[in-house]
Amino acid sequence: MKHSPNDPILLSASLHVDEARKAISDLVKELIEESKHIGGQSAIELVSLDQAINRILAEDLLSPIDVPAADNSAMDGYAFNGDYLGKSKDIISLKVIGTAYAGKPYEGKIGAGECLKIMTGALMPNGCDTVIPQELISALSDSSIEFKENLLKPGENRRLRGEDLQKNKSAIQAGRLLRPSDLGLAASLGIATLKVQRKLKVAILSSGDELRTLGQELDAGNIYDSNRYSLTGLLNRLDLEIIDCGIVRDDPASLKEAFCNAAKVADVLISSGGVSVGEADFTKQIMQELGDVGFWKIAMRPGRPMAFGTLKPVIGQSSPRKTLFFGLPGNPVAVMVTFYQFVRAALLQLNGATQTEPPLTQALSDSVIRKKPGRTEFQRAILGRGKDGKPTVKLTGSQGAGILRSMSEANCFVILHHDQGNIAPGEWVDVALFDGLL
Ligand code: AMP
Ligand code: MG
Repeated sequence: MKHSPNDPILLSASLHVDEARKAISDLVKELIEESKHIGGQSAIELVSLDQAINRILAEDLLSPIDVPAADNSAMDGYAFNGDYLGKSKDIISLKVIGTAYAGKPYEGKIGAGECLKIMTGALMPNGCDTVIPQELISALSDSSIEFKENLLKPGENRRLRGEDLQKNKSAIQAGRLLRPSDLGLAASLGIATLKVQRKLKVAILSSGDELRTLGQELDAGNIYDSNRYSLTGLLNRLDLEIIDCGIVRDDPASLKEAFCNAAKVADVLISSGGVSVGEADFTKQIMQELGDVGFWKIAMRPGRPMAFGTLKPVIGQSSPRKTLFFGLPGNPVAVMVTFYQFVRAALLQLNGATQTEPPLTQALSDSVIRKKPGRTEFQRAILGRGKDGKPTVKLTGSQGAGILRSMSEANCFVILHHDQGNIAPGEWVDVALFDGLL
């Protein structure tokens, strides 16, 4: 089924956040399918491990070896034959005939009534399948040990070959946003390079006659363009190629030209400003010519107006693919909230990631939070600990959509869901941490 961002349901006066997310995800899916046919979107690159952080794994990584490669000891202790156990002897005494170290296996034979001192990670010697940990030994001399038989079962404290990972089985699944532990895991398998999705090209621009760039004089009514800087920061968390298209004046010809230039080179265009009620009609007209873009009124705060859709391939574009378009609201906090809520997941999905939703946690609200049912709110807050040690959130002052300081001082959003009403002090609320994301 074809989805259009101009579906009448999506254009309703108060679109549920979840419906908006679903519509975006469906459209991204379509775009991925289309681009498979034209063969442009997903090119795979081979990168060395030290370059692979935050990239998206393009194919399952198969383990070339068993991990561990051979049976080995899980403890510091004594390795022996488990057949001695279960013979109702009460106390077992064994002669210690040598030591097996990690990286220096014991080469000799182990005879009847004998055992071997063994270190964690040392290969299990031939004829031994069980390790008694050091601390369970009841009597110890230089050449013998004694321990109670009922302390362990045959095979205990031994790590089996292939126990963590079997040869030719998937160690990391395709679609993983690679984290430090994944790089360590790949290295532990002796793998030096990974196949990752190419970096998405994302163009950003700010629209508004009042905007000035850093270093320019501010005349009456002018403000500095901050959105491109917060967007650059947000995008850098995802390791993308950013194309900065600067500030564009509120006139049709300039906007059209800027959108076309961005579409030519980018997979995704993110603009901010120009989609609020007063300005939307003007932007709408331009968008009708350039692609299929819906102007949504999302039941959320901040971030109510947002344009979303695709731009048609433009003349002179190297690959005939569509460009995904997000027209974010102009208010600085709304930009960050809509990015967090809609854009981030779409970028990850478009580039083949399987896990696109950031994790949520919960904390106790430290005070009353006023909230009307019927819209989702993203309030900025500081997550900490109350006197009783429980996680607590405290809002960062005035929550207007233009007050960037409320974001800057915060370390999380309190997410108040569509149907929730006022929150009482001590009530649990959903919390999304900024760290690593925003
Ligand atoms: P708009 O969505 O264009 O009506 O803008 C909403 C509000 O956000 C207005 O107060 C704008 O001045 C402000 N705004 C728009 N774009 C930016 C920007 N790039 N940086 C800072 N503020 C902006
Ligand atoms: Mg504007």
